[in-house]
Amino acid sequence: MINIYNIAVIKGDGIGPDIVIEAEKVLEKIGEKFNHEFIFTDVLMGGIAIDKTGVPLPDETIKICKESDAVLLGAIGGEKWDNLPGNLRPEAGLLGIRKALGLYANLRPATINKNLAHSSTLKPEVIENVDIMVVRELCGGMYFGEKKRGENYALDTEKYYDFEVDRIARTAFEIAKKRRKKLCSVDKANVLESSRFWRERVKNTAKDFEDIELSDMYVDNAAMQLVRNPGQFDVIVTSNMFGDILSDEASMICGSIGMLPSSSLLEDNFGLYEPIHGSAPDIAGKNIANPIATVLSCAMMLRYTFNLEEEAKAIENSVNKTLEQGYRTKDIAKTGENIIGTTEMGDKIRGNI
Ligand code: NAD
Repeated sequence: MINIYNIAVIKGDGIGPDIVIEAEKVLEKIGEKFNHEFIFTDVLMGGIAIDKTGVPLPDETIKICKESDAVLLGAIGGEKWDNLPGNLRPEAGLLGIRKALGLYANLRPATINKNLAHSSTLKPEVIENVDIMVVRELCGGMYFGEKKRGENYALDTEKYYDFEVDRIARTAFEIAKKRRKKLCSVDKANVLESSRFWRERVKNTAKDFEDIELSDMYVDNAAMQLVRNPGQFDVIVTSNMFGDILSDEASMICGSIGMLPSSSLLEDNFGLYEPIHGSAPDIAGKNIANPIATVLSCAMMLRYTFNLEEEAKAIENSVNKTLEQGYRTKDIAKTGENIIGTTEMGDKIRGNI
């Protein structure tokens, strides 16, 4: 029996279309090999949606995304739309789709690829074996709390409800269960009441996950430990703002921006998958963008939304094999290495599956 998966596809702007096409071809190959059918439905968001419909996130896009099993996103934005008012800019589409779909868990893996260890700014012995998953709360905290501006003051509020902490904690424990079974909850409980509450709720959820080793860490220490000894972490769970900062820090330990995937999830495993980089208008349409972050985002989709671990591994192994064979896009190449284009990189990864 063939399994059918419906994927809404937002190619977006800049290099978005270049890299998403390669990722789709990789999924098609997985489909052939493992007897699945992936049905892609293109929808508009970002600058291209503004040009075609006047708004960055048309209602039709939200409707189709909601009806799909998962969403694949390239990237959005570009100079052309930079002078529009905030609510009409491409980025409004990104925040809008996360909100409309209620995606509350942002997963950002930071893994060292041994073939690219030289591109990290940290010493090889420090980054050996780094394999971290940062789980960031995405719908609450200071980015969404009360904001106010007075004549001589301004305020933002960090506020978390019990259900918000409980669901992100549960997601993080579930992920730790599939990995090395270690979870570190990061907060600022020595200073913030909201963090003391966060810590209590995470401990409460831990009762349902006795096989997971839970630890707590203050965010300032976590920022330091990530560069001192990143190998100590397995899964990190943290609030929206701390996660915003720590996930960028963790991913940059790994080197190139063109390599890193991400996903944003709901409780029922529905998810939106995207590379962490932007639309890179400087290299759009030139067949030089690195498609690997988007291809690895598809591996995350197979693992977390479709529960297809073997298929996810097949993509990850194929990316590793392609790098081992010495193929590089321009952004990850050292002098003298074999530079290939976006399409060729997609072809090599597909060929290695
Ligand atoms: P960027 O990530 O697009 O580019 C930063 C640098 O990294 C550029 O030099 C670019 O060429 C390079 N780069 C990025 N992805 C690459 C890839 N796959 N392969 C090779 N090189 C790659 O960030 P930016 O320049 O700050 O932003 C450009 C546009 O993207 C802006 O309009 C911004 O708002 C938007 N943006 C979108 C998202 C998103 O869609 N999620 C995220 C960040 C930025």
